[in-house]
Amino acid sequence: MTTTAPAPKTSAELSHDPGFIQVENPSTGAVAGTVPNLDEAAVDALVAAARAAQPAWAELGFSGRARYLRSMQKWFIDNADLVAETIHRENGKSYDEAHIEVAYGVMASAFWARKAGSYLADERVRTRSPFVLGRKLVIRYAPAGVVGVIGPWNNPLLNNFGDVIPALAAGNAVILKPSEITPLTSVLMARMTSEIGLPADVFAVATGDGETGSALVERVDALMFTGSTRTGKKVAARCGERLIPVSLELGGKDPAIVLADADLDRAAHMTLFGAMHNSGQTCTSVERVLVEAPVYDEFVAKMQVAFESLRMGESTGLGTSDSGSLTFLPQLRTVTSHVQDAVRAGARALTGGAVREGAGRFFEPTLLVDVDEDMDCMTQETFGPTLPILKVADEEEAIRIANSTSFGLQASVYTKDKKRGQRVARRLHAGTVTINDVLANYFALELPMGGWKDSGLGARHGAEGIRKFTKRQSILVTNFPMKNELHTMPFNAGSQALMQKIVKVVYGRPRRTAR
Ligand code: NDP
Repeated sequence: MTTTAPAPKTSAELSHDPGFIQVENPSTGAVAGTVPNLDEAAVDALVAAARAAQPAWAELGFSGRARYLRSMQKWFIDNADLVAETIHRENGKSYDEAHIEVAYGVMASAFWARKAGSYLADERVRTRSPFVLGRKLVIRYAPAGVVGVIGPWNNPLLNNFGDVIPALAAGNAVILKPSEITPLTSVLMARMTSEIGLPADVFAVATGDGETGSALVERVDALMFTGSTRTGKKVAARCGERLIPVSLELGGKDPAIVLADADLDRAAHMTLFGAMHNSGQTCTSVERVLVEAPVYDEFVAKMQVAFESLRMGESTGLGTSDSGSLTFLPQLRTVTSHVQDAVRAGARALTGGAVREGAGRFFEPTLLVDVDEDMDCMTQETFGPTLPILKVADEEEAIRIANSTSFGLQASVYTKDKKRGQRVARRLHAGTVTINDVLANYFALELPMGGWKDSGLGARHGAEGIRKFTKRQSILVTNFPMKNELHTMPFNAGSQALMQKIVKVVYGRPRRTAR
């Protein structure tokens, strides 16, 4: 008997099949691709395979694993256009911004290949405790095992595979669950790891929706989550119940503070980039500006010119668009409602203010003035191409308002007085503060980046950005073992008295604390 293979499903059929997710190009509305929506059993199988593959991967050691990371680095360079095209197609960002993500992939592969070994090398610990004299104390970092990375749609490479790289470098097997809105770049990463010959099952992509993510949280040994504060808190609660480590990179409402002595051209230029990069769909976007009264009018005039000069539309190649489409349909509603609510309450849109008619999900670059500090556009994450500017009386008021939201991801301060900039920075409730700059910190991979308050827990980059994917183990070696010790049984009054004497001699006269 002959059997014929079933005809492949059409995209219309797949769009109604709960076993598949159809990915849409947000600039055009066209179908960009289709991926499986993995159920719990499929996630279980991926994790089991990863668990079996992980010990041999860990056995390779730092230099063995670094060889694969260097192959990734080369692959990213050789395939930059393909990766950028995939990011653009599913996310809608410009080719220029997509290439920034590719550059991050190159840099991160090189960085973790070079630094994983030194951040995770055994650490020798010195102690002054008289009770452990002659012992060797060591801290080591063992791989966590199978790490889950769950990522958002706004940066399909940077905040997805970008976090996989240090987790792999630490000796873990990794399962990546990208957003169902932008899974194609992660699928391409699975192709990349296979092309460079990464051992099978050390890395896998679990495409799917929130339930796929939830199934992953149930099974991994450590989790890196990037996404909204709402989902992040839910995921963290479950990780708490499972007692597995979780690192959270969540939302933000980043303020820029423009002080009266700032270089206003620089401040306007950098604030424009900070606010409009990826059409404002960046966790570390500048979401509100607080300007000291004496320079408010001049700064607003510069920003208006800058906003009016932006070219909105689908990017068709490098240098063709400054403001791409919004990726996620519900986001368009949030952006619209923040702008409309502000205008209803008395704010003015100096530019834009509405959704663009026609194909794709474009919102006009919108500069809002006459806002007040309690409006949603000043307190809630907007995640779109809008920027409210508020006049403040002085530095004190700027700091108070900057610190008044529930978020604490990043902030920027503009002043020609670097000491003043640092003074203000240290009073801001934010995980990172840039002075006379914006977003540049993300490309200093030595510098930890992570949020305070509702913006997250833990950090990416720096030593903490890889140690979070490990289990710390402290090892104590007694070099000259004796039969007995002063503090062990059977207790005897003589040894207890001697111990008390030692405590008094060593700790009896507290030294002055060094300043
Ligand atoms: P979401 O929280 O909606 O989703 C993030 C990821 O979690 C997606 O892969 C999503 O899958 C998945 N998910 C949803 N429900 C669950 C669940 N119950 N268990 C496990 N995983 C689940 O965030 P967005 O994708 O909307 O991303 C935008 C947000 O990300 C913004 O708030 C932004 O500020 C933040 N972000 C923070 C960054 C930082 O470094 N601090 C960097 C980039 C973005 P699915 O999409 O398929 O539902």
